Amino acid sequence: MDLGNLYQDVILEHNRNPRNWGELDATSRRADGRNPMCGDEVTVWLKVEGDRLADVSFVGTGCAISKASASMMTQAVKGKTRAEAEKVFAHFHAMVTGQHDDPSSDATLGKLKVFSGVSRFPARVKCASLAWHAMREAL
Ligand code: ZN
Repeated sequence: MDLGNLYQDVILEHNRNPRNWGELDATSRRADGRNPMCGDEVTVWLKVEGDRLADVSFVGTGCAISKASASMMTQAVKGKTRAEAEKVFAHFHAMVTGQHDDPSSDATLGKLKVFSGVSRFPARVKCASLAWHAMREAL
């Protein structure tokens, strides 16, 4: 895995065209995340209905990894229950911190597998995790 593979097309594409970009209304929850080491900043909005993450959005500035990860996080947890979202986070976090035995065959991760290379670059782990931690804080 070289640095080039870290910036796969899907990551670059999400960086250019982030999904679920923007604020939700005032009734939603929000949490901010900062990664001073890289300069990444993200704000995540969550609309929780019952046990479900009915809507989720974000706005952020920073590196391609942080923005793409935030964009794909919103897609991964939108419509999920709290427990399902926590499960996806646990699998994602294990993958980027190098504690996942076999991300490539993990159906829970889905497209998030494009971030598997992050575990080889410790400085990038915070970039990839930032929006996920903000999402959990908002929960
Ligand atoms: Zn970063």
